[in-house]
Amino acid sequence: MKVLILGSGGREHALAWAVARSKRVTEVVCAPGNGGIAQIARCVPVSLKDLSAMVRLAEAEQPGLTIVGPELPLSLGIVDALQERGLRVFGPTRAAAMLETSKGFAKQFLHRHNIPTGNYAVCTTSAELEKAIDIFHPPIVVKADGLAAGKGVIICSSRAIALEAAQGLFSGALLGEAERQVVIEEFLEGEEISFLCLSDGKDVTPLVPSQDHKRIGEGDTGPNTGGMGVYSTDELLDPAMTEWVLRHIAEPTVRGMAAEGMPFTGVLYCGLMMTARGPQVLEFNARFGDPETQAILLRLDSDLVDALEACIDGKLAATRLRWAPGAAACVVASSGGYPGSYKTGQPITGLANAAQVPGVQVFHAGTAQVGGQLVTSGGRVLGVTAAAGSLEEALARAYQAMAEIAFEGLYYRRDIGHRALKKD
Ligand code: AMP
Repeated sequence: MKVLILGSGGREHALAWAVARSKRVTEVVCAPGNGGIAQIARCVPVSLKDLSAMVRLAEAEQPGLTIVGPELPLSLGIVDALQERGLRVFGPTRAAAMLETSKGFAKQFLHRHNIPTGNYAVCTTSAELEKAIDIFHPPIVVKADGLAAGKGVIICSSRAIALEAAQGLFSGALLGEAERQVVIEEFLEGEEISFLCLSDGKDVTPLVPSQDHKRIGEGDTGPNTGGMGVYSTDELLDPAMTEWVLRHIAEPTVRGMAAEGMPFTGVLYCGLMMTARGPQVLEFNARFGDPETQAILLRLDSDLVDALEACIDGKLAATRLRWAPGAAACVVASSGGYPGSYKTGQPITGLANAAQVPGVQVFHAGTAQVGGQLVTSGGRVLGVTAAAGSLEEALARAYQAMAEIAFEGLYYRRDIGHRALKKD
Protein backbone atom coordinates (compact mmCIF):
# COMPACT_ATOMS: atom_id res chain seq x y z
CA MET A 1 0.00 0.00 0.00
CA LYS A 2 1.11 3.55 -0.72
CA VAL A 3 0.67 6.00 2.17
CA LEU A 4 0.60 9.80 1.73
CA ILE A 5 1.48 11.96 4.74
CA LEU A 6 0.68 15.69 4.68
CA GLY A 7 3.04 17.89 6.73
CA SER A 8 6.68 18.85 7.17
CA GLY A 9 7.66 18.60 10.84
CA GLY A 10 9.00 16.22 13.45
CA ARG A 11 5.53 14.75 13.90
CA GLU A 12 5.38 13.85 10.21
CA HIS A 13 8.89 12.36 10.32
CA ALA A 14 7.79 10.14 13.23
CA LEU A 15 4.59 9.20 11.37
CA ALA A 16 6.59 8.36 8.22
CA TRP A 17 9.03 6.28 10.29
CA ALA A 18 6.19 4.34 12.00
CA VAL A 19 4.26 3.86 8.74
CA ALA A 20 7.38 2.64 6.91
CA ARG A 21 7.73 -0.13 9.53
CA SER A 22 4.32 -1.57 8.59
CA LYS A 23 4.61 -4.77 6.53
CA ARG A 24 1.69 -3.65 4.40
CA VAL A 25 3.33 -0.41 3.26
CA THR A 26 5.29 -0.42 0.02
CA GLU A 27 5.79 3.32 -0.44
CA VAL A 28 5.61 6.45 1.72
CA VAL A 29 5.05 9.82 0.07
CA CYS A 30 5.26 13.00 2.15
CA ALA A 31 4.12 16.45 1.12
CA PRO A 32 6.02 18.64 1.52
CA GLY A 33 8.28 16.71 3.97
CA ASN A 34 11.75 17.86 5.07
CA GLY A 35 15.41 16.91 4.86
CA GLY A 36 15.07 13.94 7.21
CA ILE A 37 11.79 12.63 5.85
CA ALA A 38 13.39 12.62 2.39
CA GLN A 39 15.69 9.83 3.63
CA ILE A 40 12.74 7.43 4.16
CA ALA A 41 9.97 8.78 1.90
CA ARG A 42 9.48 10.42 -1.48
CA CYS A 43 8.90 14.11 -0.76
CA VAL A 44 6.68 16.19 -3.05
CA PRO A 45 6.54 19.99 -2.74
CA VAL A 46 3.04 21.26 -1.95
CA SER A 47 1.73 24.13 0.17
CA LEU A 48 -0.28 23.02 3.20
CA LYS A 49 -2.32 26.23 2.71
CA ASP A 50 -3.38 25.21 -0.80
CA LEU A 51 -6.36 22.84 -0.58
CA SER A 52 -6.71 22.27 -4.31
CA ALA A 53 -2.98 21.52 -4.72
CA MET A 54 -3.18 18.91 -1.93
CA VAL A 55 -6.29 17.37 -3.50
CA ARG A 56 -4.62 17.29 -6.95
CA LEU A 57 -1.60 15.53 -5.44
CA ALA A 58 -3.75 12.88 -3.70
CA GLU A 59 -5.75 12.31 -6.89
CA ALA A 60 -2.55 11.85 -8.87
CA GLU A 61 -0.86 9.60 -6.30
CA GLN A 62 -3.97 7.51 -5.44
CA PRO A 63 -2.61 6.48 -2.00
CA GLY A 64 -4.34 3.65 -0.13
CA LEU A 65 -4.24 5.89 2.95
CA THR A 66 -3.63 9.62 3.54
CA ILE A 67 -2.63 10.83 7.01
CA VAL A 68 -3.08 14.53 7.77
CA GLY A 69 -0.41 15.86 10.19
CA PRO A 70 -1.11 19.53 10.99
CA GLU A 71 -4.32 21.42 11.76
CA LEU A 72 -4.23 23.84 8.82
CA PRO A 73 -5.26 21.32 6.11
CA LEU A 74 -7.95 19.97 8.48
CA SER A 75 -9.35 23.47 8.90
CA LEU A 76 -9.44 23.86 5.10
CA GLY A 77 -11.50 20.66 4.74
CA ILE A 78 -8.89 18.31 3.26
CA VAL A 79 -10.59 15.27 4.82
CA ASP A 80 -14.00 16.17 3.37
CA ALA A 81 -12.43 16.84 -0.05
CA LEU A 82 -10.56 13.50 -0.18
CA GLN A 83 -13.57 11.55 1.13
CA GLU A 84 -15.73 13.09 -1.62
CA ARG A 85 -13.25 11.70 -4.13
CA GLY A 86 -13.42 8.20 -2.66
CA LEU A 87 -9.94 8.38 -1.05
CA ARG A 88 -9.26 6.87 2.37
CA VAL A 89 -8.02 9.54 4.75
CA PHE A 90 -7.21 9.59 8.47
CA GLY A 91 -8.35 12.75 10.27
CA PRO A 92 -11.51 14.63 11.22
CA THR A 93 -13.79 16.47 8.81
CA ARG A 94 -13.72 20.26 8.80
CA ALA A 95 -16.81 20.32 11.04
CA ALA A 96 -15.38 17.83 13.56
CA ALA A 97 -12.02 19.67 13.60
CA MET A 98 -13.86 22.64 15.12
CA LEU A 99 -12.97 21.10 18.48
CA GLU A 100 -9.53 22.57 17.72
CA THR A 101 -10.21 25.33 15.20
CA SER A 102 -12.73 27.22 17.37
CA LYS A 103 -11.94 27.51 21.07
CA GLY A 104 -15.39 29.06 21.59
CA PHE A 105 -17.08 26.05 19.97
CA ALA A 106 -14.97 23.67 22.09
CA LYS A 107 -15.84 25.43 25.36
CA GLN A 108 -19.57 25.59 24.56
CA PHE A 109 -19.49 21.93 23.49
CA LEU A 110 -17.80 20.91 26.77
CA HIS A 111 -20.45 22.86 28.68
CA ARG A 112 -23.35 21.30 26.69
CA HIS A 113 -22.04 17.80 27.48
CA ASN A 114 -21.04 18.35 31.13
CA ILE A 115 -17.38 17.59 30.43
CA PRO A 116 -15.03 19.05 33.07
CA THR A 117 -13.39 22.33 32.04
CA GLY A 118 -12.72 25.75 33.59
CA ASN A 119 -15.26 28.59 33.62
CA TYR A 120 -15.38 30.64 30.46
CA ALA A 121 -17.19 33.30 28.45
CA VAL A 122 -17.32 33.57 24.67
CA CYS A 123 -17.52 37.23 23.61
CA THR A 124 -18.22 38.81 20.25
CA THR A 125 -18.57 42.48 21.28
CA SER A 126 -16.69 44.89 23.52
CA ALA A 127 -19.76 45.28 25.76
CA GLU A 128 -19.88 41.49 26.32
CA LEU A 129 -16.18 41.51 27.12
CA GLU A 130 -16.48 44.19 29.80
CA LYS A 131 -19.38 42.35 31.46
CA ALA A 132 -17.64 38.95 31.31
CA ILE A 133 -14.24 40.07 32.57
CA ASP A 134 -15.88 41.68 35.60
CA ILE A 135 -16.84 38.28 37.03
CA PHE A 136 -13.44 36.55 36.54
CA HIS A 137 -10.67 36.71 39.12
CA PRO A 138 -7.12 37.37 37.94
CA PRO A 139 -5.09 35.77 36.55
CA ILE A 140 -7.49 35.77 33.59
CA VAL A 141 -6.82 33.81 30.41
CA VAL A 142 -7.70 35.53 27.12
CA LYS A 143 -7.75 33.44 23.93
CA ALA A 144 -8.30 34.15 20.28
CA ASP A 145 -11.04 31.86 18.99
CA GLY A 146 -9.35 30.45 15.89
CA LEU A 147 -6.06 28.83 14.94
CA ALA A 148 -3.20 31.01 16.13
CA ALA A 149 -0.20 28.63 16.02
CA GLY A 150 0.19 28.71 19.81
CA LYS A 151 0.25 32.52 19.94
CA GLY A 152 -3.41 33.06 20.77
CA VAL A 153 -3.28 32.63 24.57
CA ILE A 154 -2.60 35.60 26.85
CA ILE A 155 -2.44 35.14 30.63
CA CYS A 156 -3.36 38.46 32.27
CA SER A 157 -2.60 39.53 35.84
CA SER A 158 -5.46 42.05 36.13
CA ARG A 159 -8.92 42.76 34.67
CA ALA A 160 -7.62 45.92 33.00
CA ILE A 161 -4.84 44.00 31.24
CA ALA A 162 -7.31 41.26 30.23
CA LEU A 163 -9.70 43.83 28.75
CA GLU A 164 -6.90 45.50 26.82
CA ALA A 165 -5.61 42.13 25.53
CA ALA A 166 -9.09 40.99 24.49
CA GLN A 167 -9.81 44.30 22.75
CA GLY A 168 -6.45 43.96 21.02
CA LEU A 169 -7.61 40.60 19.64
CA PHE A 170 -10.89 42.14 18.45
CA SER A 171 -9.16 44.96 16.66
CA GLY A 172 -6.85 42.49 14.94
CA ALA A 173 -3.81 44.27 16.37
CA LEU A 174 -2.27 41.00 17.57
CA LEU A 175 -3.48 38.36 15.15
CA GLY A 176 -4.74 37.98 11.63
CA GLU A 177 -7.69 35.72 11.06
CA ALA A 178 -8.10 34.36 14.56
CA GLU A 179 -9.96 37.15 16.32
CA ARG A 180 -13.63 36.81 15.28
CA GLN A 181 -14.57 35.93 18.84
CA VAL A 182 -12.59 35.97 22.04
CA VAL A 183 -12.75 33.40 24.83
CA ILE A 184 -12.19 34.48 28.44
CA GLU A 185 -11.19 31.66 30.78
CA GLU A 186 -10.58 30.91 34.40
CA PHE A 187 -6.87 30.27 35.02
CA LEU A 188 -6.36 26.61 35.92
CA GLU A 189 -3.46 25.47 38.08
CA GLY A 190 -1.83 22.06 38.09
CA GLU A 191 0.26 19.75 35.97
CA GLU A 192 -0.47 19.57 32.24
CA ILE A 193 -0.87 16.18 30.56
CA SER A 194 -1.30 15.44 26.86
CA PHE A 195 -3.87 12.65 26.61
CA LEU A 196 -4.20 11.51 23.00
CA CYS A 197 -6.76 8.96 21.80
CA LEU A 198 -7.66 7.39 18.52
CA SER A 199 -11.34 7.71 17.64
CA ASP A 200 -13.42 6.05 14.93
CA GLY A 201 -16.40 8.31 15.58
CA LYS A 202 -17.93 5.92 18.14
CA ASP A 203 -15.17 4.39 20.26
CA VAL A 204 -11.86 5.66 21.63
CA THR A 205 -8.53 3.95 22.31
CA PRO A 206 -5.99 5.89 24.36
CA LEU A 207 -2.37 6.31 23.32
CA VAL A 208 0.24 6.42 26.10
CA PRO A 209 0.19 9.72 28.07
CA SER A 210 2.87 12.36 27.66
CA GLN A 211 3.99 15.73 29.00
CA ASP A 212 5.16 18.59 26.79
CA HIS A 213 7.55 21.43 27.73
CA LYS A 214 6.22 24.52 25.99
CA ARG A 215 8.50 27.27 27.33
CA ILE A 216 11.85 28.03 25.74
CA GLY A 217 13.80 28.27 29.02
CA GLU A 218 14.83 25.73 31.62
CA GLY A 219 12.55 25.60 34.66
CA ASP A 220 9.63 26.46 32.31
CA THR A 221 10.59 30.10 31.88
CA GLY A 222 10.45 32.53 28.96
CA PRO A 223 8.11 32.63 25.98
CA ASN A 224 5.96 29.76 24.70
CA THR A 225 7.21 27.69 21.78
CA GLY A 226 5.81 24.89 19.63
CA GLY A 227 7.27 22.50 22.26
CA MET A 228 10.90 22.03 23.40
CA GLY A 229 10.65 18.43 24.51
CA VAL A 230 8.33 15.76 25.78
CA TYR A 231 8.38 12.50 27.63
CA SER A 232 6.00 9.59 27.96
CA THR A 233 5.77 7.17 30.87
CA ASP A 234 2.88 5.07 32.15
CA GLU A 235 3.25 6.71 35.57
CA LEU A 236 2.01 10.05 34.19
CA LEU A 237 -1.55 8.72 34.45
CA ASP A 238 -2.30 5.61 36.52
CA PRO A 239 -4.89 3.06 35.27
CA ALA A 240 -7.68 4.41 37.52
CA MET A 241 -7.11 7.99 36.32
CA THR A 242 -6.87 6.84 32.69
CA GLU A 243 -10.22 5.11 33.10
CA TRP A 244 -11.72 8.25 34.66
CA VAL A 245 -10.45 10.49 31.84
CA LEU A 246 -11.80 8.07 29.24
CA ARG A 247 -15.20 7.83 30.91
CA HIS A 248 -15.68 11.52 31.76
CA ILE A 249 -13.76 13.31 29.01
CA ALA A 250 -12.76 11.36 25.87
CA GLU A 251 -15.82 9.09 25.49
CA PRO A 252 -18.45 11.80 26.13
CA THR A 253 -16.63 14.06 23.67
CA VAL A 254 -16.78 11.46 20.90
CA ARG A 255 -20.39 10.53 21.74
CA GLY A 256 -21.35 14.20 21.88
CA MET A 257 -19.80 14.98 18.49
CA ALA A 258 -21.65 12.01 16.95
CA ALA A 259 -24.93 13.10 18.57
CA GLU A 260 -24.44 16.61 17.12
CA GLY A 261 -23.99 15.18 13.63
CA MET A 262 -20.21 15.71 13.44
CA PRO A 263 -18.66 12.30 14.21
CA PHE A 264 -15.00 12.75 15.15
CA THR A 265 -12.60 10.35 13.41
CA GLY A 266 -8.89 10.82 13.97
CA VAL A 267 -6.70 11.72 16.92
CA LEU A 268 -8.55 13.44 19.73
CA TYR A 269 -5.82 15.25 21.66
CA CYS A 270 -7.10 16.26 25.10
CA GLY A 271 -4.88 18.89 26.73
CA LEU A 272 -5.61 18.32 30.41
CA MET A 273 -4.81 20.32 33.52
CA MET A 274 -4.66 18.05 36.58
CA THR A 275 -6.20 20.48 39.09
CA ALA A 276 -7.16 20.12 42.75
CA ARG A 277 -10.74 19.53 41.58
CA GLY A 278 -9.68 16.81 39.13
CA PRO A 279 -8.67 16.74 35.45
CA GLN A 280 -10.06 19.64 33.41
CA VAL A 281 -9.92 20.09 29.64
CA LEU A 282 -7.65 23.02 28.73
CA GLU A 283 -8.01 22.56 25.02
CA PHE A 284 -8.56 19.99 22.29
CA ASN A 285 -6.42 19.38 19.27
CA ALA A 286 -7.83 17.43 16.35
CA ARG A 287 -4.56 15.73 15.32
CA PHE A 288 -1.35 14.14 16.58
CA GLY A 289 0.66 16.52 18.81
CA ASP A 290 4.16 17.73 18.02
CA PRO A 291 6.48 16.73 19.73
CA GLU A 292 4.23 14.27 21.67
CA THR A 293 3.94 12.00 18.62
CA GLN A 294 7.70 11.51 18.43
CA ALA A 295 7.84 10.04 21.97
CA ILE A 296 4.52 8.17 21.72
CA LEU A 297 5.29 6.40 18.43
CA LEU A 298 8.69 5.29 19.70
CA ARG A 299 6.79 3.26 22.31
CA LEU A 300 4.20 1.79 19.90
CA ASP A 301 4.67 -1.94 19.28
CA SER A 302 1.57 -2.36 17.08
CA ASP A 303 1.17 -1.62 13.37
CA LEU A 304 0.22 2.08 13.11
CA VAL A 305 -1.40 1.65 9.68
CA ASP A 306 -3.73 -1.10 10.99
CA ALA A 307 -4.79 1.15 13.88
CA LEU A 308 -5.46 4.19 11.66
CA GLU A 309 -7.41 2.05 9.19
CA ALA A 310 -9.51 0.65 12.04
CA CYS A 311 -10.50 4.27 12.79
CA ILE A 312 -11.53 4.91 9.17
CA ASP A 313 -13.51 1.63 9.08
CA GLY A 314 -15.28 2.17 12.42
CA LYS A 315 -13.61 -0.93 13.88
CA LEU A 316 -11.61 0.57 16.72
CA ALA A 317 -13.51 -1.40 19.39
CA ALA A 318 -11.78 -4.57 18.14
CA THR A 319 -8.30 -2.97 18.10
CA ARG A 320 -5.82 -3.33 20.97
CA LEU A 321 -2.59 -1.37 20.84
CA ARG A 322 0.62 -2.82 22.29
CA TRP A 323 3.14 -0.51 23.94
CA ALA A 324 6.75 -0.95 25.00
CA PRO A 325 6.95 -0.65 28.79
CA GLY A 326 9.26 2.00 30.22
CA ALA A 327 9.60 5.46 28.75
CA ALA A 328 10.43 7.60 25.76
CA ALA A 329 11.77 11.16 25.74
CA CYS A 330 12.22 13.70 22.97
CA VAL A 331 14.57 16.68 23.32
CA VAL A 332 14.16 19.39 20.70
CA ALA A 333 17.23 21.03 19.16
CA SER A 334 16.28 24.56 18.13
CA SER A 335 17.93 27.43 16.27
CA GLY A 336 19.43 30.13 18.53
CA GLY A 337 16.92 32.99 18.92
CA TYR A 338 13.81 30.80 18.50
CA PRO A 339 10.90 31.50 19.17
CA GLY A 340 12.03 34.95 18.02
CA SER A 341 14.09 35.45 14.86
CA TYR A 342 16.85 32.99 14.01
CA LYS A 343 19.27 32.09 11.23
CA THR A 344 18.61 29.23 8.81
CA GLY A 345 20.88 27.41 6.35
CA GLN A 346 23.34 26.30 9.07
CA PRO A 347 25.07 22.98 8.25
CA ILE A 348 24.18 20.15 10.67
CA THR A 349 26.79 17.55 11.68
CA GLY A 350 26.94 14.48 13.92
CA LEU A 351 23.66 12.82 12.99
CA ALA A 352 25.25 9.49 12.08
CA ASN A 353 26.96 9.27 15.49
CA ALA A 354 23.75 10.32 17.27
CA ALA A 355 21.85 7.50 15.54
CA GLN A 356 24.38 4.98 16.93
CA VAL A 357 23.19 5.55 20.52
CA PRO A 358 20.93 2.58 21.43
CA GLY A 359 17.18 3.29 21.33
CA VAL A 360 17.62 6.67 19.62
CA GLN A 361 15.75 8.06 16.61
CA VAL A 362 16.48 11.59 15.46
CA PHE A 363 13.32 13.05 13.91
CA HIS A 364 13.80 16.11 11.70
CA ALA A 365 11.57 19.16 12.02
CA GLY A 366 13.21 22.17 10.33
CA THR A 367 15.88 20.68 8.07
CA ALA A 368 16.52 20.76 4.33
CA GLN A 369 18.97 19.11 1.92
CA VAL A 370 20.87 21.79 0.04
CA GLY A 371 23.39 20.49 -2.49
CA GLY A 372 24.00 17.25 -0.59
CA GLN A 373 24.39 19.06 2.75
CA LEU A 374 21.78 18.88 5.51
CA VAL A 375 21.06 22.39 6.84
CA THR A 376 18.71 24.04 9.32
CA SER A 377 15.51 25.49 7.86
CA GLY A 378 13.31 26.28 10.86
CA GLY A 379 13.08 27.24 14.53
CA ARG A 380 12.69 23.71 15.81
CA VAL A 381 15.31 21.73 13.90
CA LEU A 382 15.49 18.18 15.34
CA GLY A 383 13.66 16.04 17.89
CA VAL A 384 16.26 13.75 19.44
CA THR A 385 14.08 10.92 20.73
CA ALA A 386 14.99 7.84 22.77
CA ALA A 387 13.16 4.89 24.29
CA ALA A 388 14.42 2.85 27.27
CA GLY A 389 13.26 0.84 30.28
CA SER A 390 13.12 3.95 32.49
CA LEU A 391 12.71 7.68 32.01
CA GLU A 392 16.20 8.32 33.42
CA GLU A 393 17.71 6.00 30.82
CA ALA A 394 15.61 7.40 27.95
CA LEU A 395 16.72 10.95 28.86
CA ALA A 396 20.36 9.87 29.24
CA ARG A 397 20.27 8.33 25.76
CA ALA A 398 18.59 11.38 24.19
CA TYR A 399 21.14 13.76 25.76
CA GLN A 400 24.05 11.48 24.79
CA ALA A 401 22.83 11.58 21.18
CA MET A 402 22.28 15.35 21.37
CA ALA A 403 25.92 15.82 22.45
CA GLU A 404 27.00 14.38 19.07
CA ILE A 405 24.99 16.93 17.06
CA ALA A 406 26.24 20.38 16.13
CA PHE A 407 25.09 23.41 14.14
CA GLU A 408 25.70 27.09 14.70
CA GLY A 409 23.34 28.46 17.36
CA LEU A 410 22.10 25.01 18.52
CA TYR A 411 20.02 25.36 21.69
CA TYR A 412 18.17 22.73 23.72
CA ARG A 413 16.69 22.48 27.20
CA ARG A 414 18.68 20.31 29.58
CA ASP A 415 15.78 19.73 31.98
CA ILE A 416 13.25 17.73 29.96
CA GLY A 417 11.34 15.43 32.32
CA HIS A 418 12.24 17.51 35.38
CA ARG A 419 8.78 17.20 36.97
CA ALA A 420 8.77 13.40 36.79
CA LEU A 421 12.37 13.13 38.00
CA LYS A 422 11.61 15.33 41.03
CA LYS A 423 8.80 12.97 42.11
CA ASP A 424 11.09 9.94 42.37
P1 AMP B 1 -3.46 26.45 24.07
O1 AMP B 1 -3.00 27.28 22.89
O2 AMP B 1 -4.93 26.52 24.34
O3 AMP B 1 -2.85 25.10 24.02
O4 AMP B 1 -2.76 27.07 25.34
C1 AMP B 1 -1.37 27.15 25.42
C2 AMP B 1 -0.95 27.01 26.85
O5 AMP B 1 -1.49 28.06 27.63
C3 AMP B 1 -1.45 25.74 27.51
O6 AMP B 1 -0.63 24.64 27.23
C4 AMP B 1 -1.40 26.15 28.97
O7 AMP B 1 -0.08 26.02 29.47
C5 AMP B 1 -1.78 27.59 28.93
N1 AMP B 1 -3.22 27.73 29.20
C6 AMP B 1 -4.22 27.75 28.29
N2 AMP B 1 -5.42 27.87 28.90
C7 AMP B 1 -5.18 27.96 30.22
C8 AMP B 1 -6.01 28.08 31.38
N3 AMP B 1 -7.34 28.19 31.30
N4 AMP B 1 -5.40 28.09 32.59
C9 AMP B 1 -4.05 28.01 32.70
N5 AMP B 1 -3.22 27.89 31.64
C10 AMP B 1 -3.76 27.87 30.42
